[in-house]
Parts: sequence; structure tokens; C-alpha cells
Amino acid sequence: MSTFPRPVPEYGSEPFWAGCNEGVLRFQRCAACQKLRWHPAPICTYCQAEDCAWETIPGTGRIHTWTVITHPVHPGAVGKVPYVVVEIALDAQSDLRMISRLVECEPDEVTMAAPVEVVFEAHPDGQQLPLFRLRR
Ligand SMILES: [Zn+2]
Repeated sequence: MSTFPRPVPEYGSEPFWAGCNEGVLRFQRCAACQKLRWHPAPICTYCQAEDCAWETIPGTGRIHTWTVITHPVHPGAVGKVPYVVVEIALDAQSDLRMISRLVECEPDEVTMAAPVEVVFEAHPDGQQLPLFRLRR
């Protein structure tokens, strides 16, 4: 059975993926402007400073927007459609957004601003993947 491609930790994203394997979301916080950023990058997306520190953030947020994938565009998606791709507005910072997949619900259960929480699902190679589910 085919699966989605394995994420490849690279370009400085290794601490994020290591955090996932520990069951937490670990994001970069800029040392200059103090903003959290997604996704991992060598410079701050707000002020272009290079220095940052990694910190664990709460794995909670609200659905900012979503779409339902009904056509499998990758062989790994054949057995998974329909599934929901969400943009999460993370609670850690008002303008912090993360794209992920919503699990443990049907597509018609999704609503704007619904509260969600991160869950981790192992890729067949062992890397934990950050997904979200509705907070009920
Ligand atoms: Zn900055």
C-alpha cells in the first residue's frame, strides 16, 4: 500500500521534526522581534533577523479555513479521500498559521473557527506527523 511521501527534515527544520517525535510542536521564535514563525526558515519572515530560539508551543488553535480533498492526487491518498486539509490559526500567536490535515471527523463536521488540537500520527518510516482533530 502506498503512503504519502515522508517529510525530509532539512534546511534547519530538524528541531521541528524532532519535536514531533517527542509529541510537541517546536517553533522558532525570532531573537530580534520575538515573533514565532512557520515554517522553519534561516531568517525571520517578519524582520529578516537570523538569530532565533526553538520553543515548544501549545498544540491548540482554531480552524482559519479548510478544503476537502476528494480526488487522490497522489497514490498515497487513494485510500484516504475524502480528507480535510486545514489552515490552523495557532493559539500561540494571533497571526501564526499552519497547514495540516484534520483527522477523526467527517468533512461535514468542520466549521469556521472550530477549536482544534494537535495529534501525532506515525508515518510508516517512524517519523511522527503533526495532524489536528476537533476539540470536543
Ligand atoms: Zn523577527
